[in-house]
Amino acid sequence: MNASPVKSTLMKGFALIWIIHHNKELKAMSQTFIKNHQYNEIKKQIGRLQKACMTVSDRKVIEAVRDETAAKISALFSDADEKGKELLGGLETLKEEADFRRYMSALEPYLAEFEPVTESGIKKLFPKIKKLKVPNLAEMDFRHMTYLGWRDIATNRLFIVYRQNGKLLGVEGKYAPSNKKGVCFACNRHAEVALYTAAAKWKPTGASSDYYRAIGNYLCVHSETCNENITNVDALETFLHGVLVGP
Ligand SMILES: [Zn+2]
Repeated sequence: MNASPVKSTLMKGFALIWIIHHNKELKAMSQTFIKNHQYNEIKKQIGRLQKACMTVSDRKVIEAVRDETAAKISALFSDADEKGKELLGGLETLKEEADFRRYMSALEPYLAEFEPVTESGIKKLFPKIKKLKVPNLAEMDFRHMTYLGWRDIATNRLFIVYRQNGKLLGVEGKYAPSNKKGVCFACNRHAEVALYTAAAKWKPTGASSDYYRAIGNYLCVHSETCNENITNVDALETFLHGVLVGP
């Protein structure tokens, strides 16, 4: 049986309303606002709360940790909208291991990825390096990435690509493997580190033409590990600026 013209128009109208509504919902879902280092900080704080829930018997202590955790997380997102606050809140419902897992996995769709870079975009950052070895970008997980880092083992060089205010920054330097653990300046964790030294790209006014200044720090050898642990970008940004712009 054919639908009457009136019925058909009505149905089209409903379909249109549904599409508009559905698109709005999808748009809201695609608003990614959690940066990798913020996600790592939440993971750290939530892990602390989980540990308290699993090991402390005094409920008052647990609730104090819970309040502190909620305050620390909300301080990271002072400008979050209602939806964001709802997503990050609800810590009072976290009791069992599965609750903590659910909380963290609910955040995943809201991760703001490191906007993918192209091989030619990377090469432009390092114009002086002939035969630059760029990692396989198709294999990279750009969501869990604060900076793109890779090594050229043949030349003992380590490259860092970071995006600040929409601008790509690239630093290359030598690394001297120490084969021991130490504290990484970027993620502040105890990890396998190497002394990473980059030549400054700037000169003080009046400096001679052969002026050379190197800036060194202990950095994670494995950039993936560093990206999993970094909770604050201040030290990394200070270092990149120190190399590229000056103090
Ligand atoms: Zn690190």
